[in-house]
Amino acid sequence: MAERVASSAVEKSMGCAELYLHIPFCMKKCGYCDFLSFSADADMRERYVRALIREIKDAGDAFYGTRIVTVFAGGGTPTVLDSGQIRRIFRAVQASFSLDADAEITVEVNPGTVDEEKLVTLRDAGVNRLSIGCQSLDDRLLLELGRIHDRDVFLRCFHAARRAGFRNISIDLMSGIPDQSYMDWVRTLREAAELGPEHISAYSLILEEGTPFWRKRDSLRLPDEDTERRMYEDTRRILSEYGYERYEISNYAKRDRRCRHNVGYWTGVPYAGLGLGASSYLGNVRFRNTDHMEAYLDWFEQTDRALPWPEAPVHCEREALSDADAMAEFVILGLRMEEGISEETFFSRFGKNIGEVYGEILEKHGREGLLEEKNGRIFLTERGFSLSNYVMCDFLPD
Ligand code: SF4
Repeated sequence: MAERVASSAVEKSMGCAELYLHIPFCMKKCGYCDFLSFSADADMRERYVRALIREIKDAGDAFYGTRIVTVFAGGGTPTVLDSGQIRRIFRAVQASFSLDADAEITVEVNPGTVDEEKLVTLRDAGVNRLSIGCQSLDDRLLLELGRIHDRDVFLRCFHAARRAGFRNISIDLMSGIPDQSYMDWVRTLREAAELGPEHISAYSLILEEGTPFWRKRDSLRLPDEDTERRMYEDTRRILSEYGYERYEISNYAKRDRRCRHNVGYWTGVPYAGLGLGASSYLGNVRFRNTDHMEAYLDWFEQTDRALPWPEAPVHCEREALSDADAMAEFVILGLRMEEGISEETFFSRFGKNIGEVYGEILEKHGREGLLEEKNGRIFLTERGFSLSNYVMCDFLPD
């Protein structure tokens, strides 16, 4: 039964899809990070690259005939890999999948792990967008976060990326860092915008259970709630002065430079996630690869693997979404976007009017001035964006 669900999920995804590649390695764990990432020696990294390339080939067979519209390599830190390994991975992707001629191909970069030669390798491998994890331009705060780079290393990386020919660069920034004042945030924001990247992601720090920050949470001097809200609200105003438009809760882009890969996630484009712990979403079925490195490596190191992607034992979690789950996901992800959700699309996907399903919730947040309806679309108001977690919670299925 499980196999049948898996196969039909890939079949339903035919048309177009996105590809995500997970590289779980980092030089050192940042204090706030709960992503699936760790440091590993050269031997483990090489075994992983070989296994990932095998998964890429298996998935390529399953996706025969499907157009791949975006590729995103994240982690971890993909650029912990050496240039030869990066080249081999992207060669395998190009050979195994039908990539659109104008596919957006992004790699996450930690500034402490690249030099000009590696950036040129990425460019030559077909990568056309970089997402550089900067977080702050203040050395004191970078140290606090446990980042491996300082401000100068980031600036060198950004300029080297431009010299290597990248014309589509995103910078990740973080607000709400311990000991960060409102003015610290504004300074970082303005300095980053002055560099002129095409895209800026501005996230607030979240204390995730199990991280070093979580363990010392009582002693962290976090900005208070009012300061955090001011940081969020002023981010939009400040970035708009530099020509950035907010298009999602935490994402800002220059004209036509939205992250197509993430917009795909938020609007329900099917995606295949390859690599340790990676998730896929195909035809209302969600799969997740094992997060046990040895199990992942063992499976792909076997030469007589008989099961096609994604029916192998490494795709260990699979869940067919109920209608209620799928509708909630559509609304919660769609409301993240500035344009919100289309009532017509909701009806064509689920055969129901959105008011029939969520009438009371929509009315409640409409009354509170957090949601608005106009021209067949429902979207968060400016106040709704500040209180988005409160609004979204109400759409979660019981
Ligand atoms: S570089 Fe990114 S993935 Fe790696 S530990 Fe830091 S935050 Fe986590």
